[in-house]
Amino acid sequence: MNLKTTLLAGLLALCTTGFAQADAQHPKIGFSIDDLRLERWARDRDYFVAAAEQLGAKVYVQSADANEQRQLSQIENLISRGVDAIVIVPFNATVLNNVVAEAKKAGVKVISYDRLILNADIDAYISFDNEKVGEMQAGGVLKAQPKGNFFLLGGAPTDNNAKILRQGQMKVLQPAIDKGDVKVVGQQWVKEWNPTEALAIVENALTANDNKIDGIVASNDATAGGAIQALAAQKLAGKVAVSGQDADLAAIKRVIAGTQTMTVYKPLKLIASEAAKLSVQLVRNEKPAFNSSYDNGTKKVDTLLLTPTELTKANVDLLVKDGFYTQAQIDGK
Ligand code: BGC
Repeated sequence: MNLKTTLLAGLLALCTTGFAQADAQHPKIGFSIDDLRLERWARDRDYFVAAAEQLGAKVYVQSADANEQRQLSQIENLISRGVDAIVIVPFNATVLNNVVAEAKKAGVKVISYDRLILNADIDAYISFDNEKVGEMQAGGVLKAQPKGNFFLLGGAPTDNNAKILRQGQMKVLQPAIDKGDVKVVGQQWVKEWNPTEALAIVENALTANDNKIDGIVASNDATAGGAIQALAAQKLAGKVAVSGQDADLAAIKRVIAGTQTMTVYKPLKLIASEAAKLSVQLVRNEKPAFNSSYDNGTKKVDTLLLTPTELTKANVDLLVKDGFYTQAQIDGK
């Protein structure tokens, strides 16, 4: 190498590392969310954007509004905008392998948020411990109704969480079923976690069982809301134990009123800020602190699992203490 080429090579190296560092200091992050129309995900977005900006990142948010095709093209769009990482709340866990491969080819890190993306080469997964959430749901219903006819109201069939929740629920229910204390009189998955669909399913279950249902293991608050509406129409609200998760404001009011037995509190600020940190660390080629791993069909995915909290009427005030709601919000009509 002569002096000129050596100098040129040196200059080039300086430029590339210089640019790389500049990028890593101000990473561009895409956040592709299944459905921002839901209370829970809008809060995730707000906390995520705030935390990521604090770390020097710029966030581009997209909502697929529960549309598989829209989510795919939004992710493609984010890749062509040149983001460094994409954080995805998948609508359908099983259809993202091609678009994830595209992202990886473009050097983009892919993080699965709350719901695991299956059969794809993702870099990381962050969620609450969904098996534990399922155990809390079944445990809460069982505590209120140790014996009787139970109906299992599952989440969206396209959401891997729905299956993990069910595993957790069955871990707790199986011994009671084996003893003959609990009889599962029916079970159904609720498309898109839709409350109206949940209402119709529970209406039918009540009719089919002459209203003899003692417990409904509902997998989130939205579907619990539909279930409780069906119970109310039969004057059964408050008499049948019903579970949930998310600590939605409407659900907290039902828990206080006694029509919903329990919910599960998952501090969204925690998952959102941990996810922002994790994404920035991956872009900066730093090692995030993982505490678990999940096989998603393609690989063992590095995972960070956070701890959920069971909430009943006895400890709802935790939400105000934690800043999740104000007392005025909880008291509001
Ligand atoms: C989340 C729940 C949420 C549900 C519906 C699940 O994947 O874990 O918190 O209620 O999706 O949006």
